[in-house]
Amino acid sequence: MMLLAGCAPAPPTSTGRLRVVTTIGVLADWARQVGGDRVEVASLLSGNESPHTYEIKPADVKTVADARILFRVGLGMEEWLDPAIENSGNTTLAVVDAAAGITDIIRGDEHDRTGNPHIWLDPVLAKAGIANLVRELVRLDPKGESLYRAREATYLLRLDSLSAAIAAGFAGLSDKRLITYHDAWPYFARRFGLDIVATVEPIPGQEPSAKELARLVDLIRREHIRVITTEPQLPSALPEMLARETRVKVVVLDPLESEGGYVAALTRSAAAITAALR
Ligand SMILES: [Zn+2]
Repeated sequence: MMLLAGCAPAPPTSTGRLRVVTTIGVLADWARQVGGDRVEVASLLSGNESPHTYEIKPADVKTVADARILFRVGLGMEEWLDPAIENSGNTTLAVVDAAAGITDIIRGDEHDRTGNPHIWLDPVLAKAGIANLVRELVRLDPKGESLYRAREATYLLRLDSLSAAIAAGFAGLSDKRLITYHDAWPYFARRFGLDIVATVEPIPGQEPSAKELARLVDLIRREHIRVITTEPQLPSALPEMLARETRVKVVVLDPLESEGGYVAALTRSAAAITAALR
């Protein structure tokens, strides 16, 4: 870990814009949506890394040192970030958790005491995360309040439309069961009535044992499960093996995707699930 000694409080950018650093691209999109021209946004992860096991680089410490707001998911997902915050020497950094104040957090087993962090995949919970950011933007940049509030209102309407469109797409499906590779989609499933019957990886980054795989093969055959998801960031050998063994369909879904914006990315994911389950 590189130590950056003597960092002064983050100066404003040359354009006077508020510097926001986020952990994942989805949060960066939200920050740009509500912040407009008053913010300058950077994301630490570019999209191809696991947000559970990311390894911080010296350049990331510099990015954190220069930021005014750090917008992360929270719920312990970004534990790798804590040393970077400390080493940045940025004593005025405002850390905003998207998950702060969300009460209906899904909890898993003993490995998941803080709750499942993938709240951003539910567009309704997304609104709460965005509200957390807007509160901090307004506090640090009160002159921008009317702009932030107006942009937030516009974006929340888009999220309402997104929720309605996804719900409509799933409405006609008779079989809404699927297996996901890692436990990224429980909030999405809860919101839209999908049934995640199993998860391949018991803990993010940990491959299942041979015994667990055999149990999955059994489950797929016995219950006639038709869809299993995988992710571009994860090894695809296991889902492909399961597909060969059982003829389950493999659908590539990226929970981190923000290409073209969060709304477009979640629309594509929902369409991929719909196509596979139809
Ligand atoms: Zn995840």
